[in-house]
Amino acid sequence: MNNNNSSMEMMLRIKRVPTVVSNYQKEEAEGGARRVGGCGRNCLRDCCIQGAKLPLYAFKRVNKINEEELIEHGSGEPPVAFLDSLLLGEWEDRMQRGLFRYDVTACETKVIPGRYGFIAQLNEGRHLKKRPTEFRVDKVLQPFDGNKFNFTKVGQEEVLFQFEASEDGEVQFFPSAPVDCENSPSMVVINVSPIEYGHVLLIPSILDCLPQSIDHESLLLAIYMAVEAGSPFFRLGYNSLGAFATINHLHFQAYYLTVPFPVEKAPAKKITTLDVGVKISELVNYPVRGLIFEGGNTLQDLSTTVSNACICLQNNNIPFNVLISDCGNRIFFFPQCYAEKQALGEVSPELLDTQVNPAVWEISGHMVLKRKKDYEEASEENAWRLLAEVSLSEERFREVSALIFEAICYKNNGNQDCENLVKDAEFKSHSTEEVVATSKGSGGAIITGVQECLVLHVNIESRKGKGEVLLVTVEVSLLFFLSSKFSEIEHMLVYWFTY
Ligand SMILES: [Zn+2]
Repeated sequence: MNNNNSSMEMMLRIKRVPTVVSNYQKEEAEGGARRVGGCGRNCLRDCCIQGAKLPLYAFKRVNKINEEELIEHGSGEPPVAFLDSLLLGEWEDRMQRGLFRYDVTACETKVIPGRYGFIAQLNEGRHLKKRPTEFRVDKVLQPFDGNKFNFTKVGQEEVLFQFEASEDGEVQFFPSAPVDCENSPSMVVINVSPIEYGHVLLIPSILDCLPQSIDHESLLLAIYMAVEAGSPFFRLGYNSLGAFATINHLHFQAYYLTVPFPVEKAPAKKITTLDVGVKISELVNYPVRGLIFEGGNTLQDLSTTVSNACICLQNNNIPFNVLISDCGNRIFFFPQCYAEKQALGEVSPELLDTQVNPAVWEISGHMVLKRKKDYEEASEENAWRLLAEVSLSEERFREVSALIFEAICYKNNGNQDCENLVKDAEFKSHSTEEVVATSKGSGGAIITGVQECLVLHVNIESRKGKGEVLLVTVEVSLLFFLSSKFSEIEHMLVYWFTY
């Protein structure tokens, strides 16, 4: 240790406040005594990874989501509860160890009154402490650059576990397993700038240093993680470059939030069902135009269809966001153009002032706001106005959909349904335009149309912890409109209290 290091060490020890700019500083301060050698950061690169041991969760490759039930109720207990004990439990452990840049559980959150139930969070610290974007925003595919920040530079204490398919077809868990560098394991790490409880990153084949772009294998891995978590409140998301990904190193995000996302409740119109059983629909009455892919004869069919769509947009340099919902059974797909509009000076100054980056979570209806003013004034109309800017125009959406269907059909070996689908996408714009026009007329039409609603406020305080008491306060406001079916309300309540 040289003089510089020891003075920094003292400074950090005295400060002990959560204003860490980089977790490596912290590691240097705390790790000096316990780790000799390596770069001193206990990272995942060659300097530190040799001989490292990390927990390993090996999941069972299921073909269909229903098979998951067989695991749960079938032969014996799983070795560890994936979501509750491993993922959330280890995440809380990292919170207690002070590895996050701020306390996300202290951020105010509310459900915005209205038909859709947009969720607003006030997060004043995030944009100040977030890693800066270090690449151009007008190219969806860019080569990996090892000189810029990437996830091999995180500290090993930020890794929750390695996530791999099981070799022998059974779920397995090893609390301390060697890192098999040759085979570049996939890892789940904390997001040190979380936007919600349990916010983690899934980094497929982390040591391969893949750029941010979707391929068949990585999307399937992300879907398997959603299946493994087995909770509709745990979603995974993906932002392409140009659609507000901030790190050009292949990763998915995921977190746990116990309310339905507005996009999950939005009406949809079925377009078709492919031969492989994947149903494709289109969102209607939602500010961002998007496609929904669900079901499929196997998980692989769903994954292949969606990854073909992603690859198509990547090759056409169209930025997009993906939300993996419903335990991996339903995938929302949004081509977007906000960054492009921003660059062309077409976004209104008042929206730009909010500095909200409409990535997958915002598009899905979870608005992370940076200014108290925006949080206090949050309304469905404002959320709608921002998200409408993210959406492709009706015409452009038709064009892009046609491209996507063509890509999917090509892979589906020119099946007849598929060919009709492409033609439909090109010529159908009229009928859909009408639907959208009535709903979109203005965000206001939707708000004024609703007259009666039942508001239910639920405050839950739960104590979880490992030895020490950790207080997690969740405040949720759920809105159920009387116009919706009562059976649905009942279902929702049961849902809520189960969790
Ligand atoms: Zn190192």
